[in-house]
Amino acid sequence: MKIINNIKDLKEEIKNLKGTIGLVPTMGALHDGHKSLIDKAAKENDNVVVSIFVNPIQFGANEDLDKYPRTPENDYKLCENAGVKIVFAPTPDVMYSQDKNNLTLICPPYSVVDKLCGKSRPGHFDGVCSVVAKLFNLSKATRAYFGQKDYQQLFIIQKMVKDLNFDIEIVPCPIVRENDNLALSSRNRYLKDSERKIALNISKSLFEAKKLFESGTATKRAIIDNSLKLMEELDVEYIEFVDVNTFEFQDEIDENTLMLIAARTPETNTRLIDNIKL
Ligand code: AMP
Repeated sequence: MKIINNIKDLKEEIKNLKGTIGLVPTMGALHDGHKSLIDKAAKENDNVVVSIFVNPIQFGANEDLDKYPRTPENDYKLCENAGVKIVFAPTPDVMYSQDKNNLTLICPPYSVVDKLCGKSRPGHFDGVCSVVAKLFNLSKATRAYFGQKDYQQLFIIQKMVKDLNFDIEIVPCPIVRENDNLALSSRNRYLKDSERKIALNISKSLFEAKKLFESGTATKRAIIDNSLKLMEELDVEYIEFVDVNTFEFQDEIDENTLMLIAARTPETNTRLIDNIKL
């Protein structure tokens, strides 16, 4: 496995790869959720490239860029054991050698960013799309793997690829959870034990919602009320329902509904997101 941190060497190594390339873009602090993407990429491609980059331009001014967990040695070990060929781990200066205020950005339209995470994190998806486009160009990947944990991100990347005719296949990957259903996230490291218990009510709300929906009697209002009750100790940012194919808000839930939640924990103010297809 090669660990590369500059663009010249990356281009050289990518040129030398034979066959298909599966790209897994990450911000590091890798866990079993990331590993599931890497394993799928390894199964479906001749080569796997993992990028590890805490992308500054997708963080807002008051967000956790500086304290975002960084565990390079563990990450490299996980990648090596999973058969990764190249880890690309650049510094921000390598990725953005030009003036950060003078960058060409990819800005997805309001219709997809002015809701859910995009609404509370202005500019976030401009940063995501711009770095992902750079990674697509640099890696020359055949396929790129994205988790459904960040469903809005996945939807926006799929739209970008379609709108801009990127020659790459986007492969969605299911959410990996702990045994107690907490969705794996690098930010779970911030949680105190007491908060982790409270955070479980996010996935609990989603799984109960699915049951209520399947019972055939529950309304959207009843599902929201049940979720709010379960998440009393959390600071709920949103509970929303969109059509999984269009990402349009839905007045009524149906078999195409994706339910999404973002909430903050009471002590460390950790922002967690999760979702479920009803
Ligand atoms: P991140 O490092 O948080 O930017 O995530 C990198 C990729 O891993 C993204 O495509 C995420 O959606 C995906 N990912 C993160 N957590 C999970 C999880 N629990 N299950 C599946 N995919 C995940």
